[in-house]
Amino acid sequence: MFTCAQCAVEACRSGQLDKMPKNCPLQDPAFFEEVLKEYFQPENHDFFVSSAAVEALGYGHWPRLREVMEFARRMGYTKLGLAFCAGLHQEAAVVDRIFRKNGFQVVSVICKTGSIPKDRAGIPPEFRVRPGTYEVMCNPIAQAELLNREGTQFNVCLGLCVGHDSLFYKYSKALVTTLVAKDRVTGNNPAAAIYCAGGYLKNRLELE
Ligand code: SF4
Repeated sequence: MFTCAQCAVEACRSGQLDKMPKNCPLQDPAFFEEVLKEYFQPENHDFFVSSAAVEALGYGHWPRLREVMEFARRMGYTKLGLAFCAGLHQEAAVVDRIFRKNGFQVVSVICKTGSIPKDRAGIPPEFRVRPGTYEVMCNPIAQAELLNREGTQFNVCLGLCVGHDSLFYKYSKALVTTLVAKDRVTGNNPAAAIYCAGGYLKNRLELE
């Protein structure tokens, strides 16, 4: 089993491979040679090099929102998809405006599209957030299919729920980047729970 998260050596990073742990994935160099070939696949190579370019050129300077646009420009994308959560509708309007001001066409689709009540999707009453109200399901598959239908070249995920985002990634034909990861407790900053895991949020993480 691989346990990089608990590795204190990081021989991969330093290049001091004689120091690698016994269960290090680098014990199988042939695997990495095979994987390296994948980056040279035509559909991957520009994408990968553009990722590196954006990382290097805007390092510590461009916010992620700018990085998304710089990346899209380098890839020659002109039509972006924006799949957003209803809880971030105002934020979606801002992002949409910024993308359009920067010359992109933007197709945006809200999570509640379809207006289908949760019971029609087999969600039992105990899993309603507000029982007794007209509670509409999130519809990440429809979000993806609508963007597919519009032929978006690159899709941006804005605050979709855990799991809904996964289905969106699964059904989206265009590759997806996440601009905002939803976290209802931390103002959409999931890293805050990591930073506070030893203190204020310990009990929320079932660590005590
Ligand atoms: S040295 Fe090996 S085990 Fe440690 S982080 Fe790097 S790849 Fe993982």
